[in-house]
Amino acid sequence: METKYALPQSKLFIDGKWVEPRSNKKFNTINPATEEVITQIALAEEADVDHAVQSARKAFEDGAWSKLSATDRGKLLHKIADAILSHVDEFAYLETIDIGKPISESKNIDVPFVAELFHYYAGWANKFHGETIPVRGNYLNYTLREPVGVVGTITPWNFPLLLATWKIAPALAMGNTVVHKPSEQSPLTSLKLAEICEEVGLPEGAFNVVTGSGRITGSAMLAHPGIDKIAFTGGTSTGILVMQEAAKTLKKVTLELGGKSPNIVLEDADFDAAAKGAIAGIFYNKGEVCAAGSRLLIQESAHDAFLEKLLDRAKKLTAGDPLDPKTRFGPLCNADQYEKVLAYIGAGKEEGARVVLGGDRAQVGNGKGYFVQPTIFDDVTNQMRIAREEIFGPVLSAIRFKDLDDLIAQANDTPYGLAAGVWTRDVKKAHYIAKKLKAGTVWINTYNMYDPASPFGGYKQSGFGRELGMHALESYTQVKSIWVDMNL
Ligand code: NDP
Repeated sequence: METKYALPQSKLFIDGKWVEPRSNKKFNTINPATEEVITQIALAEEADVDHAVQSARKAFEDGAWSKLSATDRGKLLHKIADAILSHVDEFAYLETIDIGKPISESKNIDVPFVAELFHYYAGWANKFHGETIPVRGNYLNYTLREPVGVVGTITPWNFPLLLATWKIAPALAMGNTVVHKPSEQSPLTSLKLAEICEEVGLPEGAFNVVTGSGRITGSAMLAHPGIDKIAFTGGTSTGILVMQEAAKTLKKVTLELGGKSPNIVLEDADFDAAAKGAIAGIFYNKGEVCAAGSRLLIQESAHDAFLEKLLDRAKKLTAGDPLDPKTRFGPLCNADQYEKVLAYIGAGKEEGARVVLGGDRAQVGNGKGYFVQPTIFDDVTNQMRIAREEIFGPVLSAIRFKDLDDLIAQANDTPYGLAAGVWTRDVKKAHYIAKKLKAGTVWINTYNMYDPASPFGGYKQSGFGRELGMHALESYTQVKSIWVDMNL
């Protein structure tokens, strides 16, 4: 298709060079708003993954990357951040045509966040270090905090650049080298990031991009003995597979997985704010958000009044062209996801939940594109499939609760534990509930807040390890303890 900005190279980025895959195989990447082929992307197979790992290994062991001081690594990450910002329009455009994310989000939220993230971790490069420890006896004991080695990053399609850089930036800051595989659904911004790394002069081999499918490229990464750690974001079932495969070569693993997060409205909440938060919580990025507040738990006494407010506001949200700066709700990312979401809407109807908004495909323009209406189900019970399984789309399930005990029981009655929201004016109840919830993040009177400095990650089957903040640095370093006999 014709594009407003030049597309990044459709090759693999290995050892600081753009190379064709050895098999010369390519696959299409599709614009979900129009169903047009955007371009063909290189498919990396086992030999290409091996090439990338060898180059990352060399850069880590004795290449120019390994010789850089921590301060100079930080300076390079600052340069990447600045270069990303100077290309904000291109990055935002590529993300939007690749996954249907409204341009208002990709341009004003995702890309600036990514730049800030690189600045944040640039600052950490020379500040996360070892310590001296007052051990028993006449010994000097100190620790070195060293990089893990070659990090393989495998990421999904819902926030392609953002979720990739949550891993790449701290990994590089700590002195690791990276082999990155974006989802085959959304390779464009990762390739653009490689161009930026080239532009700022990142030493060859420090960052490599191997595009391709999970089944082929991802599997080759999991099996490769030269990768020391896998940083993965994706679905829980894939996460289980990643752990199983990584175990065969005892790779370190961190997993950011799915969620079925409760967004909780108490009877004393500010209903206007809560309605706004509930809508943003489920319809932001068309609900293709791991932390989406997909279970709306409403106190029974407030149910009717709150639902009315919610619907008044939600009715204004309509699907549109994601490249239009006014659009707030775009198409789903791909055909499979579109069918999956429609099937869940069908399941909700069959199980007896009541559609109070949407509930069908959405017609935009000439009828092409994977558009679904923003959908709200009422009268959902926590046992229905639409309350238990991650739909990963714009479908909200409203569930009633009676009192705090009932609320905590229902909120935690899920295999997931990624995030939660609580809306109340009662400060004691807010903190009580936040402590009781089994979730990695709790938002009180807000939803979907992120900052490079604040940790994010899951409880239960939403994964383990933390991204963002200083907590993420733990999993990109290992500690060496050194003893020196000081007895004269
Ligand atoms: P998948 O688990 O299908 O894919 C995630 C990544 O894993 C992709 O790069 C995919 O490649 C790759 N992959 C798939 N199969 C394999 C395999 N056998 N071996 C190695 N790699 C593989 O997730 P989706 O892309 O469908 O993303 C949606 C999921 O991600 C949702 O469950 C969502 O909750 C979760 N997520 C979690 C977040 C968090 O921070 N906790 C944030 C965002 C999303 P490919 O796509 O190329 O096949």
